[in-house]
Amino acid sequence: MADETTLMVWIDQDLCTGDGICEEIAPDVFHGRDDGLWVVKEEASTLGKSILFDGGEGDGHGPDGARGVARVPDDQIETVVEAAEECPGECIMIEPYDATLVAERGA
Ligand code: SF4
Repeated sequence: MADETTLMVWIDQDLCTGDGICEEIAPDVFHGRDDGLWVVKEEASTLGKSILFDGGEGDGHGPDGARGVARVPDDQIETVVEAAEECPGECIMIEPYDATLVAERGA
């Protein structure tokens, strides 16, 4: 289990159409929030701790939008890239791993 991953991902909720295609393709990385917009998450099984980047308060939650950048386990890279390609809102943003982003998200 590594802290560093190859890639990270976030969703621009302002552009999300709420169709849920991302979660159909990569359910370990994307999650439908109660308001009908999608967010990203990290799973304890692959990254040590479960964090939902839904803008919620408390342990297990992190910021949404551009500050809510989830690490992508290496075995999920292919499905996350596919989700980004299929996303009708073109709002799934994939970035190289950046320790600064991890520190700034505060989760
Ligand atoms: S595929 Fe894109 S537009 Fe559709 S729910 Fe996921 S992030 Fe939103």
